[in-house]
Amino acid sequence: MKKNQPIKEAAGNRLRLFENFVDILVSKYGYRHNFFLTDFYSVGIAAEEMYFKAPEISDVWQKYLQNKNKNKQFIQLYIGAPYCASRCSCCIYFKEIGSPKLIEAYKDNLISSINYFSDVLKNITFDNIYFGGGTPSIFTEKQLQEICLALKKNIHFDSKGERTVECNPASTTFKKLKAFKKAGFNRVSFGVQSLNQKALKEINRGYQSFSMVKEAILGAKKAGIEYINADLMLGLYGDTPQNFIDTFKKIIALKPYTVRVYSSQPIKSYLDKYFKGKLSNFEKHYEKQKQALGKLRAIAKEMNFSYEDEGLEFNRRSTSATDFKNKDITPLNAVYHTYIEGTQASLFCLGHAGNSYIHNQLKYRSTPLHKDPAKNTFIGIKTDRRNEMAYFLLNNLSNNKSVSLKAFKKVFKTELRDEFDYEIKLLESLGKIEFKKDEMIFLPVQAKERFTYSMFFIPYAQLLKNIKNLLNGKGKTLPIKNDNAKD
Ligand code: SF4
Repeated sequence: MKKNQPIKEAAGNRLRLFENFVDILVSKYGYRHNFFLTDFYSVGIAAEEMYFKAPEISDVWQKYLQNKNKNKQFIQLYIGAPYCASRCSCCIYFKEIGSPKLIEAYKDNLISSINYFSDVLKNITFDNIYFGGGTPSIFTEKQLQEICLALKKNIHFDSKGERTVECNPASTTFKKLKAFKKAGFNRVSFGVQSLNQKALKEINRGYQSFSMVKEAILGAKKAGIEYINADLMLGLYGDTPQNFIDTFKKIIALKPYTVRVYSSQPIKSYLDKYFKGKLSNFEKHYEKQKQALGKLRAIAKEMNFSYEDEGLEFNRRSTSATDFKNKDITPLNAVYHTYIEGTQASLFCLGHAGNSYIHNQLKYRSTPLHKDPAKNTFIGIKTDRRNEMAYFLLNNLSNNKSVSLKAFKKVFKTELRDEFDYEIKLLESLGKIEFKKDEMIFLPVQAKERFTYSMFFIPYAQLLKNIKNLLNGKGKTLPIKNDNAKD
């Protein structure tokens, strides 16, 4: 497709190609639920996935750290604990149920991996750290002491950063909290979700009493962890607005730093069991639960907590959340960012299934950890500035359906129009985008349509090559159907 071809004709040709390709995806893979624009990368449509061995990964990091410009780059660390005691049916972050044998082996492999990368790690001062899962508190006290020791030996961090560990109150002990404090964690986030026994049972969470939660939160304070968060989940089956208010009241009375209220994201089996498989039935239930919000705000005010005045809308694509913040505690200014790609930042993941990112160079994730850390394999794609711009656009169009021109310029130091003039003209000729003040607004509404039109932003030659490879069976794994109810 040549650039001097009349715009409308070129746009029509590209569109036909993309529509055919998406139709093939749908018929071949039943690709119904996951029309996420950012999936272009994760399923290898936008860029070809490759395998890397640990020494290569180490090498890319070392080169990046040597060559990074004098301005300080933002680098975060994620440590993954992929096991839970059971699968909660409100959770899209569940990884695996861990037997004691599996957990012990994972601990050994994680520590070997930390030690293996020590030469890279000693050259990094991490801005933020997040130990998440799964459930980090699922490790025994002894196992956690060993992990924390390895972290303390190898990890350097900025003292002003956020260093969070996620815990389940049911598996938290004072000794574990002290080990976290000693390793430098300054924030613990407890997944409480609800104190209503019926709702907890229905989501398969296992037994959790208020006294267990209280002991965990007060224990974290006693261990000297400055910032304590408790997560609550709005919209659980079996909860009523009044139950939720009661839970909130009891938790806020313990005076943590924050109480974070999430919108629940039902997985398919949960929908089938309690909502006749229909998301619309869940949405009606969720709307009813939201009646609790007014009362929560009043309680928060009484307790001297501030809150963001957001509606906690249920969003099929991502979980929304509102923080109620304790005004008596000096705020923690640094915040661990879950969205890294496309910004001037990098992310180093240790452990299984974390998504690492070396700014403008490489995105990769680990496969199950090997006993010999040098044999660990990673799957990833090489990336560059242009790809990061495309990713930034897709991410914004997925979540907000629009892109702020100022935000684009702030991240990439260039104008969106200067970089994507031709692609913008193609989409304008098809009537699919418009500009209003600071925003480029994406007009396609249906998920499939949005997915198709956003292909225009992927570097075209690269996309063409990957489509051909995928259709010839040369590409990597295509869309994986998951158990999350997204559509
Ligand atoms: S909510 Fe927490 S404990 Fe439950 S499945 Fe998800 S990660 Fe595991």
